[in-house]
Amino acid sequence: MEAILNQLNGVFKPWRLREKDPFLLLVGTVLSQNTNDRNSFAAFKSLTSRFTTPEQIASASLREIGKLIKIGGLYREKAKRLKEISKLVWKKYGGNMNLILQKPAVEARRELLSLPGVGPKTADVVLAFGAGHDVFPVDTHVFRVSKRLGFAEPKDGYEEVKRKLERVTPPGRRIEGHVLLIQLGRNYCRSRNPNHKECPINRFCPVGTRYAGPSLPLRRRAHQP
Ligand code: SF4
Repeated sequence: MEAILNQLNGVFKPWRLREKDPFLLLVGTVLSQNTNDRNSFAAFKSLTSRFTTPEQIASASLREIGKLIKIGGLYREKAKRLKEISKLVWKKYGGNMNLILQKPAVEARRELLSLPGVGPKTADVVLAFGAGHDVFPVDTHVFRVSKRLGFAEPKDGYEEVKRKLERVTPPGRRIEGHVLLIQLGRNYCRSRNPNHKECPINRFCPVGTRYAGPSLPLRRRAHQP
C-alpha cells in the first residue's frame, strides 16, 4: 500500500473536502448517498442557502427541506433523515457535533452510527474529514479498487474491507489512501472498462501486472478530482 500511495501521489493532486463544519459535512454526506456528485452538491448548495444549523433544519418542515434538496434524489427519505439527525444533534449535543468528534475514534464512531440514517461510510467520512481521525472510509470506488488490488476478498463487506485497508496502510496515511484510491477508481480502475494498460500502479496489481512495462516512470500529476 505504501508503494501504491507513493506512486499515486505523483499522479493525482491531493484534495480534501471543502466543508469544515462537521454538521454540514454530515449533511453533505447524507445528501451524497445514492446519487452522483453533481446532484448531491446542487442539493447541498440549495439546502444551505436557507439552513445551516441543526436547529434550523430540525425546525423546518419536511416539505420545505424536501423542496430544497429535490435535485439530489430520494428527497423524501433524505429530508426525513436530515430532520431526525438535526433534532438529535440539537437536543443531545446542543447542536455541537464536536462533542462527538473530539472523543476517541471508536467511541465517536459508535455515537455517529447511533444517529438515524448514518451508516459506516457516512460515519467514517465525518470522522476523517470532520475531525482528522486516521480512518479509511470505503466508498464505492475504494470498495472496487481494493478488491481488484487484492487487499480484500470479493465477498468482503464494508467492515472487512475497511479493517484490511487500515491494517496495510501506514498510520497517518489512511485519509490520503481514501482520496487516492477514489481518484484511481474514477480515472483508471473504473467499474466498466478499467484502463489496466495505462494504470499508474498496474505493476502492483494482480490484474494489471501483465500490462505493466519493465519499469514505469513516475507519471506527472495529470488529473483534477
Ligand atoms: S491494473 Fe487494472 S485492476 Fe489493477 S488497479 Fe489498475 S485499473 Fe484497477
